[in-house]
Order: sequence, then structure tokens, then C-alpha cells
Amino acid sequence: QLDPSKLKAFSNAAAGHDGVLCDPSGELLIKPCVDAEIDFYQETLAKYPDFAELMPTYMGTLSLGSPQAPSDTPAPELSQQEKDQARLHGVKIASETAIVLENLEHGFKFPNVLDLKLGSVLYDPATTEPEKAARLDRVAQESTSGSLNFRVAGMKVWNPTKRDFDIYDKFYGREFSAENVSEAYETFFAALFSSDIKGDDAVQLLETILAEVTKARHILEKAQSRMYSASVLIVCEGDTAALNSLLGAVGPSAPSGDERAPTAKELKRAEAEEEEDEEAEPVAFKVKMIDFAHAKWTEDGGRDENTIKGLKNVEQLLDGLIGKFD
Ligand code: ADP
Ligand code: MN
Repeated sequence: QLDPSKLKAFSNAAAGHDGVLCDPSGELLIKPCVDAEIDFYQETLAKYPDFAELMPTYMGTLSLGSPQAPSDTPAPELSQQEKDQARLHGVKIASETAIVLENLEHGFKFPNVLDLKLGSVLYDPATTEPEKAARLDRVAQESTSGSLNFRVAGMKVWNPTKRDFDIYDKFYGREFSAENVSEAYETFFAALFSSDIKGDDAVQLLETILAEVTKARHILEKAQSRMYSASVLIVCEGDTAALNSLLGAVGPSAPSGDERAPTAKELKRAEAEEEEDEEAEPVAFKVKMIDFAHAKWTEDGGRDENTIKGLKNVEQLLDGLIGKFD
């Protein structure tokens, strides 16, 4: 049971609005959101199970109680600090309702996070005010959103020398062009180029990440959907030693030599142990699609070329990075 009073600020986001929370254990992420995002999660779970596997596990919704100031009262004056925050992240979403998701950073020692925002059209043309549309079109035009249908929305990368994360805010990713955005990938995956990591292990990791993105694209190519400014979120272990041992451990565990079938009693005990074993196995990386505030499945809209083109380019850049290990 989630107690809203025990939630704490989630300060580890790579991008996006403020106001994201996590539970005391850090396993769950609680994100204030619009109803459309909850609807999208629920519809996906019901009708698109393949795509649901590519999203963070959906746990439900949570009422956060205190709503923001009602819309007929004037917005309070912002302090300079609040203005700076808003400039970096975008203001909080005025919403009482939050979505409860698997925290994708949980279980990593130092989670490196890369948020790749998809689309060159970053808003739903049917429902967006002209001013906002024009502003987002300008950002797209001046960044790789316009040319590649994706841009780096934000990232954080563990810096072992500093013993802290290097933070790359939303302005970092806007500076790249189609010609040099591979530099952002190289910065994010810099640890893979270190002498501690075997080239073959690095290639295998990147190929697995690439395959997940391809999986998402293949599903969208067969479906009818629109997802304006959804993201591919890549989380990767930033601790080189931890990453190394995770990459080294390939394949299922060796057979024990004891070929006897387990007794009912043994099976029950194994099951109970599994349930007690709350911590999931650590993984080297996670790749998920996130941010569905402006996403919907449609009956007759055709393929979402806006998003599909972005995924293709995300894949192509990953492929280029893999090529650097030859
Ligand atoms: P928005 O951009 O609308 O504020 P997002 O869904 O993109 O909302 O979330 C903002 C940021 O929060 C993301 O860039 C990511 O770093 C982090 N985030 C979102 N969902 C998760 C999740 N399930 N697990 C971990 N981090 C998440
Ligand atoms: Mn986002």
C-alpha cells in the first residue's frame, strides 16, 4: 500500500517536468500526469501486450490529494529559483492524479539515463494552441527533432573521477545537428570504450539495445497510432565494474548434474524463496518507451510515421556506434 505522505522527490530524472516522486524503496515512480497518459497505459495493456512489454510496468494510479491552485485564481509569482527550475525542466503538471510505474533506475548502482524524444511534430495538431505549436515547431526546426525526428531531451552519465553524475540538460541536446549528434551517443556510452570493457561485450550490449528499439518500431509499423513526443529511455549501468560483471555473465546457469525431478516439497520451498527474494536480478541496461501524455491508438489514422522515422534514426545512430568497435 502506497502512503502518499511517505513519497519523496525523484531527483534523478534525465528530463521532463518537475513533481515526479518515488516510494521509499525506490522501486516505484509516481508521476503526476494527464488522464490521456493513464488511458494510454490501460488501453495498451488490454490491446497491445507486445508494446506493453516495451513500457515501464504499470502499477496503477494514485491520487495525490492536494490539487494545484484552481484555474480561476491567479498563478502565484514565481521566485527566481522556481523560474530557473521551470526553465530547466518545465513547470509541474497541474494534476491531482499520478501514474505509478516501475522505476526504471531501480536496481542499478549508478544508472546512466538517456532520454531520446521522438517526432518532428511534437504536439497533437488537433488539440494544441497555435502559440504552443509554433514554439515547438521552432525547437524542432532548430534541432535534430526536425531533421532526424528525434533529439536528446536529456541525459545523466556517471563520472567516476567526480564520483557524481554529469548532467546534460534539455539545452545540451538541442545544439546537435544530424551530422554531429553521434557525439551525444559517444558521451552517453563512453564507458563502453574504456579498456575495462571487452569490445565484444560492448557490441553485444549495444546490439541488444538496438534490437529493443527495432522491436518497438516493428510494432508501430503494424499498428495505427499517434504518439507525439514520446521518448525512448535508455538506462545503462554506469559503474564500470558492475557493468563488466553483468556483461560477462552470459547464458543460463550451468546444469547442476542433479537430473532428478524436484519433489513437491522442494518446488514449494523454491517458490516461497522466489517470493521472498524481493530484489530483482540486476541488469546491465533497460530500454523502454515512456511519456505518453500525447499518445493514442487510433482506428483509422494509419501508421505513425512521425514516430517511426525517429525510431529508425535512433537505430541508425546506434548502428553507427556499434561500427566504431570494429
Ligand atoms: P514529461 O517529459 O512529460 O515530464 P516523462 O514521462 O518523459 O514526463 O518523464 C520525465 C523524466 O522522468 C524522464 O526523462 C525520465 O528521466 C524520468 N522517468 C519517467 N518515467 C520513468 C520511469 N518509469 N522510471 C525511471 N525514470 C522515469
Ligand atoms: Mn518527457
